Amino acid sequence: MPVYDPKSLKAEEFINDEEIRETLAYAEANKNNTALIDQLLEKARPKKKDKGYTCAGLTHREASVLLACEIPEKIEEMYRIAEEIKLAFYGNRIVLFAPLYLSNYCVNGCLYCPYHLKNKHIPRKKLTQEEVRAEVIALQDLGHKRLAIEAGEDPVNNPIEYILDCIRTIYSVHHKNGDIRRVNVNIAATTVENYRKLKEAGIGTYILFQETYHKDSYLHLHPTGPKHDYAYHTEAMDRAMEGGIDDVGLGVLFGLELYKYEFAGLLMHAEHLEAVHGVGPHTISVPRLKRADDIDPDDFDNGISDEIFEKIIACIRLAVPYTGMIISTRESEEVRSRALRLGISQVSGGSRTSVGGYAGYDENERPHDTEQFDVSDQRSLDEVVRWLMENGHIPSFCTACYREGRTGDRFMSLCKSGQILNCCHPNALMTLSEYLEDYASPQTKEVGYRLVEDELKRIPNEKVRRIAEENIDAIKSSNRRDFRF
Ligand code: SAM
Repeated sequence: MPVYDPKSLKAEEFINDEEIRETLAYAEANKNNTALIDQLLEKARPKKKDKGYTCAGLTHREASVLLACEIPEKIEEMYRIAEEIKLAFYGNRIVLFAPLYLSNYCVNGCLYCPYHLKNKHIPRKKLTQEEVRAEVIALQDLGHKRLAIEAGEDPVNNPIEYILDCIRTIYSVHHKNGDIRRVNVNIAATTVENYRKLKEAGIGTYILFQETYHKDSYLHLHPTGPKHDYAYHTEAMDRAMEGGIDDVGLGVLFGLELYKYEFAGLLMHAEHLEAVHGVGPHTISVPRLKRADDIDPDDFDNGISDEIFEKIIACIRLAVPYTGMIISTRESEEVRSRALRLGISQVSGGSRTSVGGYAGYDENERPHDTEQFDVSDQRSLDEVVRWLMENGHIPSFCTACYREGRTGDRFMSLCKSGQILNCCHPNALMTLSEYLEDYASPQTKEVGYRLVEDELKRIPNEKVRRIAEENIDAIKSSNRRDFRF
């Protein structure tokens, strides 16, 4: 039987079924142990250190106890601490992005995804480079600077060369004042050599959802195709890191398996990356299973309520305080509103989940033929930006960290040094000003510039504040763009 070892490179040793089961039993046995729970909450709370903050985080066992706890006051306390951590490390900034679907050709048999090979009625589509250009122009016209590219797995139709061509095309388009400054990639598990090529193409984060950490369920849910190989999929992040990608994004598709099992597995994966590569995941996504072409979420037994979903988000925030958290438009405005207070730091906006869903459609038109799943939050990017600001957040289009080489563990150093307010904060305000000037509706622009003015005052370093003000003036009065600290 495989033995638990976070440092092992074998899937079944670092995501160890026996360890997860013991963790769940320990969590269940301690879910009313208020002395332990208080101790864990205290451990998770951010502590002031020098000019910044540090946070100890929690192990998968510790965090599983909090997730199991059903005592209302303790849950409230978890939520308060999650928000404290969020504010200490990310401030009130929320980074925005959009998915770009390149191709829905797929040779896998995933039971929850409408792109599975046996779906013979969904139209199959793959963007040409001309169509990629058109999509990117449409996305730039919305105001996006950061994309996540998505594709099915198909070595003939979507080989790595195709993905690399698309990345080159995306970075080459400079339409009006627009450009895409960071391309994150969500494609199937691949080889070290291919990860190296993606790194050389200048990608930001490599994102791959585990879907489920439960091996038997994984094998059942992926009955055919290369994705059936549990070990190859689970060990993908190690290959990505070996290929030189140091920002990787984890995720579970909640609804497929029991959430407590997935939660422990997800944190064990994060601990494994830290133990082996010295750096944890850059982001964690929390997708929930959605209705789609020939997919009915009610056919799956493990759907979770909004309350449990929020608790999962808060507990992840407490466990891995330095990891960004992403919520997509799979979730409604109401759910996203609450999740933002519990630790989410990135949201998508104005998203289309079909291949070729942006170019040629106006805001209210939504093509459904090649769509991957139903989108709950169907608002335009302008509406999402205004909504964020009206709720006290700063929408940020910043891509500075990775372009300045602040990837991997260097973001953590930035948090600890207390320089976030002199670096990320002005970057957010400058990129928001670009958005307001170039793309926002008059109403959003008005709300936005009021916010920018107030938030500029919060920059502690006088010199940084002055430079940010000068740059924002330049954005307003000229076509100069892309300032960053
Ligand atoms: N094909 C790539 C792979 O196999 O990892 C990734 C791209 S796929 C477009 C992105 C993600 O969408 C999948 O990893 C899965 O978690 C999610 N997804 C698939 N079907 C879904 C559904 N019905 N509802 C919500 N999310 C879904």
